[in-house]
Amino acid sequence: MKIGFVGLGNMGAPMAANLAKAGHEVTGFDMAAVSVEGVTMAASATEAAKGADVVITMLPNGDILRRVAGEVIPAMQTGAVLLDCSTVDVQSARDVAAQAVAAGLHALDAPVSGGVGGAAAGTLTFMVGGGDDGFNIAGELFDVMGQKAVHCGPSGNGQAAKICNNMILGVTMIATCEAFALADKLGLDRQAMFDVVSTSSGYSWSMNAYCPAPGVGPKSPADNDYTPGFAAELMLKDLRLSQMAAEAVDADTPMGRAARDLYAQFVEEEGGKGRDFSAMLPRFETRGRG
Ligand code: NAD
Repeated sequence: MKIGFVGLGNMGAPMAANLAKAGHEVTGFDMAAVSVEGVTMAASATEAAKGADVVITMLPNGDILRRVAGEVIPAMQTGAVLLDCSTVDVQSARDVAAQAVAAGLHALDAPVSGGVGGAAAGTLTFMVGGGDDGFNIAGELFDVMGQKAVHCGPSGNGQAAKICNNMILGVTMIATCEAFALADKLGLDRQAMFDVVSTSSGYSWSMNAYCPAPGVGPKSPADNDYTPGFAAELMLKDLRLSQMAAEAVDADTPMGRAARDLYAQFVEEEGGKGRDFSAMLPRFETRGRG
């Protein structure tokens, strides 16, 4: 396929490289001067989009997505697919999709889980919103860039799935970290705590697969001085998106709100920026109740 790829950062560059390696003809554009193996660089987003069967965007936020979509949609050929893989607010995803569909295009919002490692290895999970036709056309690209693509319903539902998942993740990580810190103060050994919880009703991905306590459980960023992994500021971004969505539809999400507030404090006031999101454990360790 002929693919335009806009946004070749930490995630976009390895995704585009994998598409080129699989034999697709990829033309890329990024505001920054970047080069990606196998990808022909264009002078603008519009130029990258011209004549493409699929235009993929991998951008920082909804405002930038809206801007880029405004440029590329008029340049795209009828029947082509606009495939946005960024994590953005649900409303931006829905507005951009409506604009694309009105211009005779297919539109998909397909945020990913799996991080930079998953992007490089081609093992991302895509959560996809949009029509069946677009989903079928993009299917072979999901197979190259990822290991799983779940069609979640109409436009915006991919973003909805992503922020609901990450709201659960943020909340369970905080719960796991505060429980470890409580266990410490009660004199309970961390290994014993892990052995019990990971096989009892308190288990979760945060405990079992990404244990925030160094030297306990599987290898995780905790074993590498909390070098991300999944940075706390990216978790904060997703928690903010989940609260923005909850406000828009009047959903009561007290735990999600508390998680957002804690990560905001951690990132903005307590040196959490640039640390893995599981570094909530050393944060709790040093605190008392007041
Ligand atoms: P990044 O900042 O490394 O990459 C974004 C790229 O977009 C940059 O290279 C930037 O120069 C480019 N860009 C910005 N404005 C542009 C414009 N107007 N035209 C063209 N290019 C422009 O970010 P990333 O880590 O690659 O993340 C991309 C998206 O994926 C974000 O929405 C993020 O939330 C999501 N995401 C990231 C991860 C992760 O672990 N990094 C995991 C899952 C999802």
